[in-house]
Amino acid sequence: MFDIINNSFKKGLLTEKFILPQDESSRQIDSAGEQLKKIIHKLYGRSLHLREVDTGSCGACESELIALSNPIYDIQRFGVDFVASPRHADALVVTGPVSRNMALALKKTFNSMPEPKFVITVGDCALKGGIFRDSYYAIGDIQSITGSVVLHIPGCPPEPIIILHNLISFLKQKS
Ligand code: SF4
Repeated sequence: MFDIINNSFKKGLLTEKFILPQDESSRQIDSAGEQLKKIIHKLYGRSLHLREVDTGSCGACESELIALSNPIYDIQRFGVDFVASPRHADALVVTGPVSRNMALALKKTFNSMPEPKFVITVGDCALKGGIFRDSYYAIGDIQSITGSVVLHIPGCPPEPIIILHNLISFLKQKS
């Protein structure tokens, strides 16, 4: 144990210092984020909790959603958080064309969420199956499983800034 600590001191810092870029795109993220923060404060008090379900996507839509939490976007600072439990979620975010194997999981997740709740679809597959529409394994009908989809964010996949802007426009209408 002490050898490990000693070694760490001897080696020092091995990672590079991360400096956030101060360019036009980071200014865009900051100003969009501040808008989002104000709306979330008005509608939800302090935060908006999202539960994400991948119903059989290629993985790219999730990568873009994950990017929202990286140090560049850091969406948590604006009051948006991805949660593990549906019981803690205000909204359900769905990606992928709803494969047969994921239909029940999607239904159970949605049913476990407290009211009021709403559903957001991210990426073209989540709307009506996208490129997987004609696959025998894609059901592609989130609407019939969850009752309603109030916001669809298009793209294949949509970039994080697009997701941010769509979320702002939608929440603005609610506020
Ligand atoms: S919309 Fe495009 S990126 Fe997203 S899961 Fe479908 S194929 Fe992948």
